[in-house]
Amino acid sequence: MASSDYQLFVIGGGSGGVRAARIASGLGARVAIAENFRYGGTCVIRGCVPKKLLVYAAHFAEDFADAQGFGWTVPPAEFSWPQLIEAKNKEITRLSGLYENNLKGSGVEVMHGAARLVDAHTVAVNGQKITAEHILVATGGTPFVPKIPGIAHAITSNEVFDLPQLPQRVLIVGGGYIAVEFAGILNGLGARITLCYRGQQVLRGFDDDVRAHLFEEMVKKGITVLLHQNVARIDKLNDGSLSVPLTGAQGPTLEVDAVLYATGRVPNTQGLGLAAVGVALDKAGGVVVDAFGQSSIPSIHAVGDVTNRIALTPVAIREGAALANTLFGPTRTSADLTTVPSAVFSQPPIGTVGLTEAQALARHGEIDIYSSKFRNMRHTLSGRDERTLVKLIVDTASQRVLGAHMVGADAPEIIQGLAIAIRMGATKADFDATVALHPSAAEEFVTLRDKITRKRDTRQPSAPDT
Ligand code: NDP
Repeated sequence: MASSDYQLFVIGGGSGGVRAARIASGLGARVAIAENFRYGGTCVIRGCVPKKLLVYAAHFAEDFADAQGFGWTVPPAEFSWPQLIEAKNKEITRLSGLYENNLKGSGVEVMHGAARLVDAHTVAVNGQKITAEHILVATGGTPFVPKIPGIAHAITSNEVFDLPQLPQRVLIVGGGYIAVEFAGILNGLGARITLCYRGQQVLRGFDDDVRAHLFEEMVKKGITVLLHQNVARIDKLNDGSLSVPLTGAQGPTLEVDAVLYATGRVPNTQGLGLAAVGVALDKAGGVVVDAFGQSSIPSIHAVGDVTNRIALTPVAIREGAALANTLFGPTRTSADLTTVPSAVFSQPPIGTVGLTEAQALARHGEIDIYSSKFRNMRHTLSGRDERTLVKLIVDTASQRVLGAHMVGADAPEIIQGLAIAIRMGATKADFDATVALHPSAAEEFVTLRDKITRKRDTRQPSAPDT
């Protein structure tokens, strides 16, 4: 298709799309990209980055309180939500500009506007038809909210970052990443938080000990966590507050100032014209792709959250880079997604890599479990009753470490390093042979001695993930 306007047209200026565009351009391709909101995508504009800034902000409440144990007299601190949001917005604007400038600096043609597919090689942007040899759909995802009466009164992670004031009483619905992260943020900033989750423990899919530990710590911090509960409806009262009856047995009716839904995200494929040009979508609307990011139409590709697989920024970045290399580099490349570490920026945070105990048992049959719960040195003087959990899961036969999990201060920072060791196939003996770094919480990972061995009961079917 020598006559195409571009060799690659990217729809969506988030992490995956931007990486693919820049690498493709660097490999000599003629590339254009269109974004209908702000460059940077969910992660930069209303996800990872502003979330982490708010996590830092929220932590100061405990830091001020803990300082007294170390001899500081801290005058009563005051917090201004509008000031925080303004500072956050400034940083997001800076980063978004950086994304756009980096694209331009890499030789990519940058467009503002919603792109729609016309056919397998044509998109329409702002009424203009543009042809391309390859089209990359990198439009990310959007919050999912169930259709319950009064749902229009609820907000999602799209709105929470820009509320004019901090609501005093907040109900958070859901028990996943966003729910527990915002429970910690808003609680730390001074709101009264109730989290309601329909299942039996928050963070389904994580290691059970991690889930239970975080639950305990959240409760200790004053967050009300209601399990086996869901929202029946949301009624707006005359004074502007919201009345929310819950559906579980003896479910209370809550009165709050805001209801934050964090009930998952769905791929952003509506209105793109994908189905009309024959691109296969899954039940959730995600673009079905092969290991190389190619959809059912050979010239159309997809990376990141829109493919409804692992919805994490670094994964989208890897997929975007691999796609650009496949299309314009010397070799076909697929993103290597073995041992993807992940963090939940709850309070305290979680870092995790590899298999959970339940997954390891199901896959390996016999495993050794090492774990420790302890009080961080900081809290000997702060007096805070917060515990850290570290846990290693080891394959009994090969002694390879299959999973490492941590709940506690700096867990994401610590687990990133362990992810390298685990990916390289480190054994428990390798961990033991590593000299501890003292005094730290991380050293627990190389000093774990007490072992529990578990064997899969082959007479029992694997327990469902609850
Ligand atoms: P998650 O999939 O993590 O959690 C969704 C939660 O909502 C689950 O507890 C789920 O319950 C519950 N839920 C789903 N549908 C309903 C419903 N109809 N009624 C009541 N509850 C419901 O989604 P999030 O929105 O928290 O985050 C989306 C994704 O974004 C994450 O999976 C993650 O990939 C990514 N993310 C990553 C972060 C990080 O890396 N730190 C931070 C934030 C997001 P159940 O368990 O029963 O299904």
